[in-house]
Amino acid sequence: MSANKTTQKTATAAEVEPSPSSSYEARYTPAEIEERWQKRWAEQPDLYGAEPASSGKPKYYVLEMLPYPSGQLHMGHVRNYAIGDALARYMWMTGHNVLHPMGWDAFGLPAENAALKNNTPPREWTTQNIAAMKRQMNRIGLSYDWRNEIATCTPEYYRWNQWFFIRMFERGLAYRKKSKVNWCPECCTVLANEQVIDGYCWRHEETLVEQRDLEQWFLRITNYAQELLDDLDKLTGWPEKVRTMQRNWIGRSEGAEVTFEVEESAGVPEDEQPVRDTGTAVLPAGEGTKTSGSAVVIFTTRIDTIFGATSIQLAPEHALVKEFTAADAKLGGQVASLLEQQKKAREAGDVGEIEKHGVFTGHYAINPFNGERLPIWVANYILLDYGTGAIMSVPAHDERDYEFAKKYGLEIRIVILPRRTADPFNVGEDEPMLPYTAEDSLLMNSGEFNTLGNQEAQHRMATYAEEKGFGRGTVTYRLKDWGVSRQRYWGTPIPMLYCEKDGIVAVPDDQLPVLLPENVEITQEGGSPLARMPEFVNATCPKCGGPARRETDTMDTFVDSSWYFYRYTSPRDDTAPFDTDTVAYWFPIDQYIGGVEHAILHLIYSRFWTKVMRDLGLVKNDEPVERLFTQGMVIRNGAKMSKSKGNVVSPDEMIARYGADATRAYSLFAAPPDRDLDWQEDGVAGVSRFLGKVYRFANRHARRDGSRDGTVAVTSATSQALLRKLHQTIRKVTEDFNGRWHFNTSIAAIMELVNVLTAAESAIAKGEVSDAELALILRNLVLLLAPFAPHLAFELWEKIGGEGSLLRAAWPKYDEALAREDEIEIPVQINGKLRAVVRVAANADEEALRDAAMAHEKIQAAVEGKTIARVIVVPGKLVNIVVK
Ligand SMILES: [Zn+2]
Ligand SMILES: [Zn+2]
Repeated sequence: MSANKTTQKTATAAEVEPSPSSSYEARYTPAEIEERWQKRWAEQPDLYGAEPASSGKPKYYVLEMLPYPSGQLHMGHVRNYAIGDALARYMWMTGHNVLHPMGWDAFGLPAENAALKNNTPPREWTTQNIAAMKRQMNRIGLSYDWRNEIATCTPEYYRWNQWFFIRMFERGLAYRKKSKVNWCPECCTVLANEQVIDGYCWRHEETLVEQRDLEQWFLRITNYAQELLDDLDKLTGWPEKVRTMQRNWIGRSEGAEVTFEVEESAGVPEDEQPVRDTGTAVLPAGEGTKTSGSAVVIFTTRIDTIFGATSIQLAPEHALVKEFTAADAKLGGQVASLLEQQKKAREAGDVGEIEKHGVFTGHYAINPFNGERLPIWVANYILLDYGTGAIMSVPAHDERDYEFAKKYGLEIRIVILPRRTADPFNVGEDEPMLPYTAEDSLLMNSGEFNTLGNQEAQHRMATYAEEKGFGRGTVTYRLKDWGVSRQRYWGTPIPMLYCEKDGIVAVPDDQLPVLLPENVEITQEGGSPLARMPEFVNATCPKCGGPARRETDTMDTFVDSSWYFYRYTSPRDDTAPFDTDTVAYWFPIDQYIGGVEHAILHLIYSRFWTKVMRDLGLVKNDEPVERLFTQGMVIRNGAKMSKSKGNVVSPDEMIARYGADATRAYSLFAAPPDRDLDWQEDGVAGVSRFLGKVYRFANRHARRDGSRDGTVAVTSATSQALLRKLHQTIRKVTEDFNGRWHFNTSIAAIMELVNVLTAAESAIAKGEVSDAELALILRNLVLLLAPFAPHLAFELWEKIGGEGSLLRAAWPKYDEALAREDEIEIPVQINGKLRAVVRVAANADEEALRDAAMAHEKIQAAVEGKTIARVIVVPGKLVNIVVK
């Protein structure tokens, strides 16, 4: 709100700035200035380099998420990097040892598609794109130490992916299993659960993900589910929204597993049974009921309702169903159609909305709590991969069970009552509306557990089941293991071999990396071309020396980005993924900046990877990132920039027209960094004019000689006002860096300072401001601009004779006493009679005075219902309101 107001004010101020008044005045030519400085920066590789730990300075690791090398930076990148760059420069100037690296998330599908389209090998295409984007980054003037640059598609990098994979395999954290997996027909590969967004592919927003049965490699992220959840509490420097998303994704729920024995079926052929059994009623425990030896384990979060169970519901793919259908072809057909319905709903991403169908199997299971015989059903809404794939159905106390029971006429039995019921057995008019699912309740019809409160009952019943050996309390998670196999070419080869004698064998460390073959033919039908290359597939088993087949799947590219930020600290190490001591110094990352779309992809995988590396003894930190910032999107005309909408603004174009400083400063100025930014070219032009104004003001006064130690005697009212504004601005910008990063208001404050300075030109000409004062103001103005418009700031720093590199110059300190605004009391009259006194800034203008007077509560009360004829304001003296 307030930012908007400031924006408008300063934009207007920029408009009214006179064009260069005299022909000899210097012109601001960003292209020239920026080119000169980029060249000079490139000649000083140490400029943006981190120092060793022995520097004794506090360390600061600031990082922006590494981009995929598509070949073109977009405005979202520019904004992301402008935020990180401003912060890095501020940290250097506040005396920190800064690590600010950049690299390339260089494996992935687009390279293969491009290879097909342009007939360019993926590596060549990727390398060209990296070069192009690096050129663009340098044209923006970003402070990266390119000596740490990494590209994840190089063997020097991906060999460590393979090395980690083998370490995980040795510890059972990487394993192979056949299961239902997500398959994107567009990507022609398997996807992890995290890469399926509401049933669609994360890359292909319009492609529904299918389910396929495949044997795949998984990483056991579920081993860390509880720790991933618990440690979210420690991540107080992360946006709450990201923590909530991760919490929900991990999805912990407490419950219980209970084993129901399956009754031995009578073995009587169906047509000989006296009464056709519909499976709608619970049967009492029969004398001499025999169990079949089979059992079904159900998962429930409401064991307290178990006396209300009136059926068992199985997923169509449950093992027991297979047992039943083996002997019952008719049932087999019915189950197949239930499965088909479920599959369709899954593919449409709305299993929760499925129209419920089910079929009675003809079998019964025995409730171990009361010996009752419950009919066993198969239902299309029960998923094999949730819990145990089997539930007890309690229609009176569960929405879905109720719906199902109503449809099929199953028994509904109340076992839970609201607490307000005085006598739980005297239901009467207090009978709850069904289904009654509230938890704050009491038990009834539940044997020895009657009258217990619901929470206590859950605990007691789970304990009882455990003591009797037919159940236990459990915790389940929504998070599933991370499927990392990809049937694609452009990724890290999974370093595994298949030997007929020895089974799955890891490639020995000394044979790493398993090189990704180059000169590969990529075809339209997708799938991994590696599988079609005998020279890749055929290998020797390191155990027995016999023939072995090489794994041809590659790794999910999210493996690459799970640990890349560790590699920056020792990027050329060829003996280890990184140096443990160096990592111990730099980690955790002090500030990580990127898009919120990675909240449950990259950001959960990299937390998992860090914990695994800690358990391998490679790192000491539990978490990779101390503070996380997720910037808003760059939009235009109210929509996300996209080619199809025709609203894309190219960074190159903006930079060519207005300069890199104006483009990046605008991207910080136009909106708070966590909000969406609506790109307005007029705004960039306005920022460019502002920078020109700074340039000319500095040029007019740069030759003044003055004190540089910051102690200046105030010589006049004008200089006092200028110094006050300067210190207020330093305070504002410093507080924004240390606080909420409202760089939009920081830059607006610098604009205001510059307006005050240019408005004082005539006073300066009259000698009302000493050379020393002016030199001090100018020097500080340049320091304040350095994080936002570094080229211009470096240029002016040289012009005013600043010593050393601006990047290492000390950030200005503000003087609280000098920054304090003088306040005065102004009487407010109504029709000439004193009614109130307001406190305002000594220099408050007419508008500010009027607003302050009208906002006073006594004045508001006095003028209520009256017509205000006129308001007379005498700045510095009084306000008189004339009412009728
Ligand atoms: Zn896809
Ligand atoms: Zn072997």
